[in-house]
Amino acid sequence: MPDEDIFRRLRRFHTRYFPRLRNQFHSLVDQGQRPTVLFIGCSDSRVVPYLLMDSGPGELFIARNVGGFVPPFDASHGYHGTAAAIEFAVLTLGVREIIVCGHSHCGAIRALYTEPPAEAVHMTKWLELGRDAVLPVTMSEEALFRTEQRAVALQIERLMDYPMVRRRVEAGELFLRGWHYLIEEGKVLVLNVESGLFEPYDAALQAARANDPLAGVNQLP
Ligand SMILES: [Zn+2]
Repeated sequence: MPDEDIFRRLRRFHTRYFPRLRNQFHSLVDQGQRPTVLFIGCSDSRVVPYLLMDSGPGELFIARNVGGFVPPFDASHGYHGTAAAIEFAVLTLGVREIIVCGHSHCGAIRALYTEPPAEAVHMTKWLELGRDAVLPVTMSEEALFRTEQRAVALQIERLMDYPMVRRRVEAGELFLRGWHYLIEEGKVLVLNVESGLFEPYDAALQAARANDPLAGVNQLP
């Protein structure tokens, strides 16, 4: 992106968008942030969490990495960026939900079926976090789709190995959600933890309403 383009974009934010959000930002600075959601997602440029969740400043605490993976809790002293984000979100911010969001056409998942560049030593290591989701088949669109979903379930399992997460989930203070975002459809499939299947968000919404007659009241359609 040329310098001129970048600086024009900064000016556009400062003069056009910021004034509309000024009060919101000021109160977020005065009172501090209190996001209730930790969003763990892939770094893919087509995944736009704020759009996806119809949200604004202060609402989402976001940790993104290649594949949207959750590293194992190993309590060793290392540079564990995603693990640090999980700890900060849970212990300091006290989020009520953690969303692990995979997506269609994920390059990280595809890379699990191919040979990464020899120089990509960190990526090769990092991709191990999705290895257990790989199917023993030749790569196909169907296999990739299913692997993307299996990888989300895998990260959720790994999240439960974080003591501070497990404790709060078991106490009913924290809720984990697994999502598979279909970029081309603008639609999210949500993991049903009981069936292990991903189902359209609208079916999940209906099920939630059936279980709780007040669910959906005072919420956007
Ligand atoms: Zn991805």
